[in-house]
Amino acid sequence: MTSQHRTRRKKRDLHFLDSEGRVACNPRDREAAHRAEVEGIATETRSAVTCKKCLDAMRSTEPIE
Ligand SMILES: [Zn+2]
Repeated sequence: MTSQHRTRRKKRDLHFLDSEGRVACNPRDREAAHRAEVEGIATETRSAVTCKKCLDAMRSTEPIE
């Protein structure tokens, strides 16, 4: 992976951090979860999440009644 635009950052999405400390859109990547946490772009508040992948993941794991 190459990063040509290190200083240029897109608007950050807020990812959902689950109770096990993993991001919902990338549950297998603990590194990503850690990074998101450190950078303050992870939240445990469902309503605050803006990452579309996380929202999708949350929806699919949410118990349907
Ligand atoms: Zn996400």
